[in-house]
Amino acid sequence: MPRTIVTYPNPVLAKKAAPVVEITEEIRALAAEMLEIMYADKGIGLAAPQVAESIRLITVDLSGPDKREDPHVFVNPVLSNLEGEVESEEGCLSVVGYRTTVKRAERLHLSATDLDGKPVEMDADDLMAICLQHEVDHLDGVLFIDKISKLKRTLYERKLKKWLKEKNED
Ligand SMILES: [Zn+2]
Repeated sequence: MPRTIVTYPNPVLAKKAAPVVEITEEIRALAAEMLEIMYADKGIGLAAPQVAESIRLITVDLSGPDKREDPHVFVNPVLSNLEGEVESEEGCLSVVGYRTTVKRAERLHLSATDLDGKPVEMDADDLMAICLQHEVDHLDGVLFIDKISKLKRTLYERKLKKWLKEKNED
């Protein structure tokens, strides 16, 4: 069965994902499928836990969702040298019907490996830095709604409860 995006409050989204030990054919196939799902659902980033695979792998393409010009797959990504502060509006394919401003570091360094197991070292800023922080958070079981004020979170939970109830009544 093809994978689909899981949404909050699915518990897999709150789990710390395990490191990828070996890049197998299955891992490569998962990455290819994640890119397809990301484009189809009009996202610019996706983390493996969002398709219910609790492993440390993310896909990013800032040229998306309309273009497919800059696909990246990062295995076991680690962020360091986080500097500065920016606030921007974020949404998440796993958090239905909600966008809000989130504070993030403005610049950072990414260390990861690619699908050939080769090391990747990259400095990132702007949207790439924000996107990487959002996706790596997913690998640690953190969603952007975990970073907003208690009041905003309560309002979102209330809205979500109503939606889920309406869905069940359909
Ligand atoms: Zn997300």
